[in-house]
Amino acid sequence: MNKKCELIYEGKAKKVFSHNDENKVMIEFKDDATAFNAMKKAKFEGKGKLNCLISAKIFEHLMNKNIPTHFIELKNENTMIAQKIKVIPLEIVLRNTAYGSLCKQTAIKSGTVLAKPLIDIYLKNDELNDPLITKDRIELMNILSSKDLDLIIELTLKINIILKSFFKNIKLQLVDFKLEFGYDLKDNILLADEISPDNCRLWDLNQKNDTIVSLDKDRFRNDLGGLIEAYSEINRRIKNFI
Ligand code: UDP
Repeated sequence: MNKKCELIYEGKAKKVFSHNDENKVMIEFKDDATAFNAMKKAKFEGKGKLNCLISAKIFEHLMNKNIPTHFIELKNENTMIAQKIKVIPLEIVLRNTAYGSLCKQTAIKSGTVLAKPLIDIYLKNDELNDPLITKDRIELMNILSSKDLDLIIELTLKINIILKSFFKNIKLQLVDFKLEFGYDLKDNILLADEISPDNCRLWDLNQKNDTIVSLDKDRFRNDLGGLIEAYSEINRRIKNFI
């Protein structure tokens, strides 16, 4: 029998619906864009579809390299079917190049290539403005065990190696990205959320000089314009590569 799909959760950029199979959910990508903890908002027609298609391709690529993800299949151009998970309330940011908040909070110069990847972990809590959090505080708050935190960090480093090379092949520099993880119904840790220009900084390597050309959400954050053109360009390069 076909159970009606119900909206389970609506976030800033996605809606999550129930699925006939209770182990699965449907994730619809919205055209809304937010920045600076939703202080800045806009709508970009076609962004949802582009992020859904880009994420699907990247999840497939990661799964081919044995990274466990929540992705199952595309339902349509802006909706994916994914495993139902319990979200771990942490945002794991990996940085290869210094930019954004790292440069605002430290004396490191924008654009500095880091000697090794830096992992910054933030508590996923809008009311608290997603604060940077320590390993000890994660344990103190019983968010997850130190063994599972180590596992997530190890997975993030592996994902970075795969994604850096993937994006390099399509002439993009992976500056930084944010990941979210969750537990499936059997308590396995899976990569969740999305991997798209909304949560990765990607710089065009097809530049003759050192000019930074962002093909990501910085086009919106920094009022550069051309967001849809940038996301379409990434989708085009991925399609031509895979
Ligand atoms: N990021 C994200 N969601 C957030 C904060 C950051 O997806 O709520 C991503 C962002 O797109 C970038 C990376 O995480 O790829 C590092 O962002 P940063 O901490 O520099 O924050 P920002 O400069 O965006 O304030």
